[in-house]
Amino acid sequence: MKVIPIQQLAPSNAPDTEVPDPASRPAPGEALVDRRGREVRDLRISVTDRCNFRCVYCMPREVFGDDYAFLPRRELLSFEEILRVARLFAERGVRKIRITGGEPLLRKDVERLIEMLARLDGVEITLTTNGVLLPRMAQRLADAGLHRVTVSLDALDDALFRRMNDADYPVEKVLEGIDAARAAGLGPIKVNMVVKRGTNDGDIEAMATHFRHSGHILRFIEFMDVGASNGWKMDEVLPSREVVARIDRLFPLEPADPNYVGEVAERWRYKDGAGEIGVISSVTQAFCSSCTRIRLSTEGQLYTCLFAQQGHDLRTLLRTGADDAQIDAVIARVWNGRDDRYSEIRTAATAAQRKIEMSYIGG
Ligand code: SAM
Ligand code: SF4
Ligand code: SF4
Repeated sequence: MKVIPIQQLAPSNAPDTEVPDPASRPAPGEALVDRRGREVRDLRISVTDRCNFRCVYCMPREVFGDDYAFLPRRELLSFEEILRVARLFAERGVRKIRITGGEPLLRKDVERLIEMLARLDGVEITLTTNGVLLPRMAQRLADAGLHRVTVSLDALDDALFRRMNDADYPVEKVLEGIDAARAAGLGPIKVNMVVKRGTNDGDIEAMATHFRHSGHILRFIEFMDVGASNGWKMDEVLPSREVVARIDRLFPLEPADPNYVGEVAERWRYKDGAGEIGVISSVTQAFCSSCTRIRLSTEGQLYTCLFAQQGHDLRTLLRTGADDAQIDAVIARVWNGRDDRYSEIRTAATAAQRKIEMSYIGG
């Protein structure tokens, strides 16, 4: 199956030409609240749609082979444009910014963007990466002001991991990346494992054993039906409660309180004090009612849900002289009109709909 390049996913990418009257927006500084009473708190910024991996659940090689039409450079938001949007969101209550992609460490000079974003008052800056570039970049990222990293790692078995990333990267490279992040002070480090039943669920116990006592927080993510290319099937989702049960059999667990209201990972602590794990059950236990996230795509589209079919174009405004009040009015209109709760209403039919790829919208 060949996926339709994102640029052709009209009308999703048709520019929003109508700019609301800035006088009609909520007062400057006032929090934005969507139609389900949720405030905007987290901004995820995708800085590239490219990746050096071809994870089977995200950018399958049959679809994203070497000739896939990635976005040309001029289409990407510049760092200055990203900072401007991030600042406007921070003024509306965003407290956490996550840099993602694609593989964010492939974006040239990404540490310069981090340095710019780190100057925003009261905003935590984090980054999600597949980890292989961390050995040479972790210290630079920390020096630029990055607070924490999340590293993805789907298996400890080397042959299995190479099959899953489908680019022949060994586990060792990612483990070196995690060590480099720790040495640079980018902790506590979260390690994300996407669990695909029948593919890597046999490695759950090995991953738990490896990361106990490490100080890193291993998180198991249910395989999701993002995008239109990963051939998602409900049969391949291993419910988080089974993950917890399997680990509990080996190393007894007890529930831990959330760190903050709306935390998406459910926390479990080893009873023997060896640390904690998290489970993210987006399929079997949707958490839409407390979802405070918005995503800014690589080319400047705002998405109010990971499963959105339509974005809201900010790039045109940024490049045609709109002032801050006008852009803020659009941001306010987009968030105030938000009604998303995809994971609560997922069915086989919605799973089959054409959705934006995760590597583009930002994971
Ligand atoms: N390339 C970076 C990485 O892999 O960490 C950042 C981008 S990636 C899209 C962000 C996160 O999304 C990763 O932890 C990845 O495992 C997760 N992810 C991608 N596709 C997924 C899917 N179909 N279901 C669940 N998680 C997925
Ligand atoms: Fe790349 Fe991350 Fe997607 Fe894997 S999950 S293909 S590393 S963007
Ligand atoms: Fe948020 Fe959409 Fe995920 Fe629900 S499905 S938690 S609204 S991103």
